[in-house]
Formats: sequence, C-alpha cells, structure tokens
Amino acid sequence: MRAVYFLLGVSFITCKTSDPNNDQLKSMLPGITLPENLSTIGSDTIGVWSIDYIMGKFEPAEDTAFILIDSRYADREGLYLRKDVYQAFLQMHDAALTENIKLIIRSATRNFEYQKKIWEDKWDGRIALESNKRANTITDEALRAREILKYSSMPGSSRHHWGTDIDLNAFNNAFFENGSGLLIYNWLMNHAGSFGFCQPYSQKDSSRPNGYEEEKWHWSYLPISRQLTVLAEKNLRDTMITGFKGAEQAQNLEIVRNYVLGIDSTCLDQITKL
Ligand SMILES: [Zn+2]
Repeated sequence: MRAVYFLLGVSFITCKTSDPNNDQLKSMLPGITLPENLSTIGSDTIGVWSIDYIMGKFEPAEDTAFILIDSRYADREGLYLRKDVYQAFLQMHDAALTENIKLIIRSATRNFEYQKKIWEDKWDGRIALESNKRANTITDEALRAREILKYSSMPGSSRHHWGTDIDLNAFNNAFFENGSGLLIYNWLMNHAGSFGFCQPYSQKDSSRPNGYEEEKWHWSYLPISRQLTVLAEKNLRDTMITGFKGAEQAQNLEIVRNYVLGIDSTCLDQITKL
C-alpha cells in the first residue's frame, strides 16, 4: 500500500507523474542531470514529498516508492531504498565490481522510529558511543546530545529517512584509510559522482565547520537528496524535532542549520555543475 504523503508546507514539490521520462523529470528538477535509464523506474520516481517524508514518519516496507535490497548487496536482510536510488546503486556496484571493488550496503533507509531507537539507546547508555564513552555519564544534556551527534542524527533530522543515503562497507574511517578499504574509498571518490552519489559528511574544516564528523562510509544519491535538502531547509524547523529523549536540545543546538545543512558543498552544488 502506498503511503499517503500529506502536504503541509506551501513550497513542497508536488510533481507526481503517471508516466515520467527523463525529459519530464528534468523539467521538474531544473539543473539536475538524471541517469539515462531513470525513466524505466515508473511512476514512483518522484512522489509527493511532505514534512512527514522528510522526517521519516512512514514505513518504507509499505511504500511502493521503496524496494527491498537484495541481500547479495547488503550485510543483512530487510534493508530498503527508494527504487530510483537502488537502481543507481546497482549500476555503481556493478561498475565497481569490474575493478574488483565490492560495495556492501551496511545501512540504508531508517525511519523515525528506527532512528529514535538508535538515539535513545545512545542517550541512555545502552549502547556505547564511537568513543566507547556512555552518553548517560554526561550530565549536561547539551553536551550529551553533542557527543551523540558526532555520528548519529536526532530522529526526524536524518538523511537516512529519505531513502537516498547509504552506509557502505564499514562504519569507521580507519577502514577506508588502508588496504582494501582505501581502494574502495579511492574508487568512490573517483567514480561515485558519475552515478549521482556524493559524500555529505566530508572532512570537518573551514569549508564544512558544522555538523557530523567525517563519515567516509556515508554516500547520498544527489538527484533526489538535493531536492530533499532544499525542502528541509525551507520547511523543517528545530521546533518540529520532538518525540524522543533529549529533543529539547534540537533548538539549542540548531539541528537544521548545523546538522541537516552541515554537509559538503559538493552535495549541494555538484548536480548543477553536471
Ligand atoms: Zn549514514
């Protein structure tokens, strides 16, 4: 059953089509270059997006825009991606394989409830942070949230809600800095862009001063996620990010400005340069 996306904002894209092709899609998404065969995907390529979609308040398994990832491409069963993103990933995966690079999806779509469990498990100290610290030992709630936010999003503010973003191969930067991991990362840096993917959480420096720490494993499918980033910038507010422990810190830490929009500039600009 297709989820119903209620339109709450005034400036959401509502370009639902019955039989889209690339020309139609390009006119809907000006400045965006889409993969050649995107038109074969069908009517779910561009859905009607809403604040609920942006905040992950839907069930990917029940939404016809999403598809179950074949377990040969992932480390486990039960992961979902948008169909258009999956098709682009398969093309990238196959191209990489011809150079003996094996891309494995470790995480894909995570809805609000899924992200809430991750967040609260960290908030309460049931699972350790990447630093091996337990967040519940940090009494100052702003500091506690900031520590979790090094690598995990508050529910409602994750790019993983969108079905456009994937985590590949290993959840640590060190893996990608030597041996086979370095070969994978170099391949992605050289080729992922031509399949529509970028690395939103690049090195933190003066060009990306805010947001999550670097994540060499996290890649985003720009033809769709760029639009969702724009919609989030226009319509998602810190006051909407509620419904979990520590949510009061969303306004304090300016989650939308610092984290949702704290991404590498190539994840905003690359598509318009193509
Ligand atoms: Zn990720």
